Amino acid sequence: MKSIIIFLGPPGSGKGTHGDRLSKELGYNKISTGDILRESIRNKTTIGNKAKKFIDSGELVPDDIIINLIKEKISKTKGGIIFDGFPRTVEQADALSQYLDIDTVINFDMNDDEVISRLTKRRSCPKCNAVYHLIYNAPLRSKICDICGSELYQRDDDREETIRNRLAVYRDKTMPLIDYYNKKGLLVTVNGIGSIDKIFENIKELIQ
Ligand code: AMP
Repeated sequence: MKSIIIFLGPPGSGKGTHGDRLSKELGYNKISTGDILRESIRNKTTIGNKAKKFIDSGELVPDDIIINLIKEKISKTKGGIIFDGFPRTVEQADALSQYLDIDTVINFDMNDDEVISRLTKRRSCPKCNAVYHLIYNAPLRSKICDICGSELYQRDDDREETIRNRLAVYRDKTMPLIDYYNKKGLLVTVNGIGSIDKIFENIKELIQ
């Protein structure tokens, strides 16, 4: 079984949802840089204050901030790890390779129209970071998180104009990682469109 796994793919392609599910099933840690940054913003930490303007506009937070944050997180983490939304640049991937040996990179394949349709209907939990889709994965009670009962919200960066910028940034800065990990023989691709259960089964087969 692979123990250091990276989930790569455009925003809204299912990395968070499947990362949560897989980490529970395998007893792994899920490290989401997006979740860590949003929490830092809520807690008004120095990192949060620096990161806010980048996140709000759909740009990437500078590599030095992210790499320091990940270095600290890894040093406190034991056991298997699923990285969700990290690395997002070649610089971050090079830095990660100094600390850990990657077993598999799962690339979630999804077109822009599907990303936009999904993200505009996404609602997130501010407390436990669970994500819902208003149509395909709706909470049992309207606007309330099934897991922790908090009120769900729409992320500021899940609005159409910002999503388009996030997609442009993804193409420019993150897509080169597909080739980067492919050349290292670590990349497998999963179709991000379809039923959540079916995609999850595909992911499990790929990491066996
Ligand atoms: P996510 O929740 O993964 O969609 O991330 C939300 C936002 O946080 C991104 O649009 C970036 O602004 C920032 N972010 C998250 N992870 C990273 C990363 N690895 N590198 C740079 N910025 C990041």
